[in-house]
Amino acid sequence: MKSKIIIAGPCAAESKEQILASVKEAKKRQVDFLRISLWKPRTKPGFDGLKEEGIKLLVEAAKRGVNPSTEVILPEHAQKVMNAVLNVNNKAKLLVWIGARNQNHYVQQEIARVAAKSDRVYLMVKNQPWPSLEHWEGIIEHVLHGGIPKKRLILCHRGFLANGHNPLGLRNVPDYNMTKIVKEKYKLSMLFDPSHTGGSVENVMLLGKEAINKGFDGLLVEVHPDPKNAMTDAKQQLTWEQFDTLVKLK
Ligand code: PEP
Ligand code: MN
Repeated sequence: MKSKIIIAGPCAAESKEQILASVKEAKKRQVDFLRISLWKPRTKPGFDGLKEEGIKLLVEAAKRGVNPSTEVILPEHAQKVMNAVLNVNNKAKLLVWIGARNQNHYVQQEIARVAAKSDRVYLMVKNQPWPSLEHWEGIIEHVLHGGIPKKRLILCHRGFLANGHNPLGLRNVPDYNMTKIVKEKYKLSMLFDPSHTGGSVENVMLLGKEAINKGFDGLLVEVHPDPKNAMTDAKQQLTWEQFDTLVKLK
């Protein structure tokens, strides 16, 4: 697992205590970026993230030598997070990502244009929720058109809406053939998100292990200091001990 890209941490940033506890655990492990998501698009209205208020938490992580990552919805979010995190010191790296629900190609291109401005910023793009090879290729081509270099662009498969056969009751069903086609066509790193595919701790462990064996380039996985009391996605977030078991699985 050493050579894989690991992005791990809470589904959503909730509080300073939660993030400092996560920073401490991430520091002990081979985590490339700590997941600290500030913007949380939701299926139904509810807690939708700390937004700008939480940028200081990403700064706290960077100050402690842990590189932060967050979803951004608009280009100005990417710019604000970059301004804060990159100024902590000249080693801090940042990863911003475009989530599955954010399917406005103009916005995608503009986020890429902002992220492209610093060689310490990485952009991750998740596939859209519905299965369509053409649409997924379109997202990738739009962000490349926005100027993000391939060496700072990472793909992440988070499955597609279940339609029919779903014996494990997955939240979103992976399409391994499609990921292979996309990865080979664009020659980009492809991570796997066992959390939003699995939907339960048991499935996260199962799909995470499967992804490692299938040769994905890494994982984006939700890990919370107190999963039972998480404000979002409580059922699927791992403890750091469960995370350790997962990344040791071969
Ligand atoms: C997320 O990773 O925070 C998330 C909501 O997943 P997705 O965008 O894949 O639905
Ligand atoms: Mn989540």
